[in-house]
Amino acid sequence: MADPKGFLTHDRELPARRPVDVRIGDWREVYHDFSAEKLTKQAARCMDCGIPFCHNGCPLGNLIPEWNDLVYRTDWREAIERLHATNNFPEFTGRLCPAPCEAACVLGINSDPVAIKQVEVEIIDRAFDEGWVTPQPAAVRTGKRVAVVGSGPAGLAAAQQLTRAGHDVVVFERADRIGGLLRYGIPEFKMEKRHIERRLEQMRAEGTEFRTGVNVGVDITAAELRAEFDAVVLAGGATQWRDLPVAGRELKGVHQAMEYLPLANKVQEGDLDSSPISAEGKHVVVIGGGDTGADCIGTAIRQGAASVTQLEIMPMPSRTRPDGQPWPTYPTLFKMESAHEELADRGGQRVYAASTTAFVGDDEGNVRALRLVDVEGPQKGFQPIPGTEREIPADLVTLSMGFVGPEKGALLQDLAGDGFYDARGNVARDKAYMSKVDGVFVAGDMGRGQSLIVWAIAEGRAAASGVDRFLTGDTALPYPILPTARPLV
Ligand SMILES: Cc1cc2nc3c(=O)[nH]c(=O)nc-3n(C[C@H](O)[C@H](O)[C@H](O)COP(=O)(O)OP(=O)(O)OC[C@H]3O[C@@H](n4cnc5c(N)ncnc54)[C@H](O)[C@@H]3O)c2cc1C
Ligand code: SF4
Repeated sequence: MADPKGFLTHDRELPARRPVDVRIGDWREVYHDFSAEKLTKQAARCMDCGIPFCHNGCPLGNLIPEWNDLVYRTDWREAIERLHATNNFPEFTGRLCPAPCEAACVLGINSDPVAIKQVEVEIIDRAFDEGWVTPQPAAVRTGKRVAVVGSGPAGLAAAQQLTRAGHDVVVFERADRIGGLLRYGIPEFKMEKRHIERRLEQMRAEGTEFRTGVNVGVDITAAELRAEFDAVVLAGGATQWRDLPVAGRELKGVHQAMEYLPLANKVQEGDLDSSPISAEGKHVVVIGGGDTGADCIGTAIRQGAASVTQLEIMPMPSRTRPDGQPWPTYPTLFKMESAHEELADRGGQRVYAASTTAFVGDDEGNVRALRLVDVEGPQKGFQPIPGTEREIPADLVTLSMGFVGPEKGALLQDLAGDGFYDARGNVARDKAYMSKVDGVFVAGDMGRGQSLIVWAIAEGRAAASGVDRFLTGDTALPYPILPTARPLV
């Protein structure tokens, strides 16, 4: 245990965000550095509980009390070993995870939980700075070939595990760069893309091969892939977006979030001088109150929007844990992400319990306004409240209402047969993460539906274990999660 009185002595503290005025003038990550001295105090708050519920809260089963103790003792080298034992990419989760571990922290029952995510990101950042993140090539090669389709966190985790187990792994990605939603989707101000690059450098040095610009199913068929490789891992994500089929949906200026956000990423990559869908000088309405909506807000503000309004059909969540979502579950709470703080600072609004009824256009077919109405909560079926209809200005609308599952394109059409999909339309898999097609495995959002980076990494690791056993009859790769485990988030 770090410090027996740490949780009594120190309050929870996180790094400060850079001032809004400063950070919206650039696209860099929003947080200031956090000193090692402060971090040690945060690690010291861990009580090393007899039953660490945070382990269960983390889909990767991260060994949280162990690395808190090691950080407290300034044994950073051992801390990264323990962290990497369960998590291939703590630099992604340490920045982007909603931290269900913290919701399950025992200290959180009657106090503020341990700042687990902050400790995690500081361990990996220091490890990279110190040069401790080196390639771990396999000692023995098996001669087996594995194709991974999709280079998001699930595909990358599966690829790294399988390469280290000695297989020859090729990752196919239809986009022009590796990373999935980490690359094209999540904005630079939440995670700078240099973090992906330095991890890819390690993976290439270990022997993983990456082929970009290959749309599997079109450029190479599923049959060709299966003939060329001994096993295939499908990690194509759940990229089929939910739409809003109301009057005026066809107007110019109404876009899906995932049409809007990747263009901003491309500007940051230096591919474009400016985004073809820019919020500059526009009244922006973001439909959807989740993380993707927050990413649209932060992006629109940095592009110089005239105003930003966010609409959410659900009522405003509570600021404290609701009775129906007791510890250690992950509660739905009112969040003040960095983008929300920027929205409040710029005079923008978050409107809850409101539904869009139509988009209104001008003579040239551009959206100019959005009609909305207040609705009663989900128990009443989101019934419109008479007399609350109104119009707000809207020159750019982004739809951030989630994703309905994997795209049923040529790849999945070629593979699909009886029972290939589950009841929710995701690719079904058995306990070893194998689909109904022999030797074809599935990991991440493609099998689980829209989820989180931490789950994608956990599933990529688990699927790799299934593939390794399929190819060699046994495996030393860890199998971190139970397929039946109920997600906390
Ligand atoms: C805007 C946005 C913000 C998000 N923010 C967060 C966050 O802050 N924290 C968090 O935990 N989660 C976040 N998520 C969710 C998270 O990004 C996903 O759950 C995670 O990326 C899923 O990983 P994956 O590897 O399964 O799929 P993805 O990351 O979606 O990657 C799938 C990849 O497969 C490729 N592909 C698909 N089909 C083919 C094919 N036929 N051939 C070749 N390549 C193919 C795609 O191009 C893509 O690159 C966010 C999601 C979005 C949309
Ligand atoms: S990956 Fe997420 S849930 Fe797991 S320890 Fe890190 S922040 Fe917590």
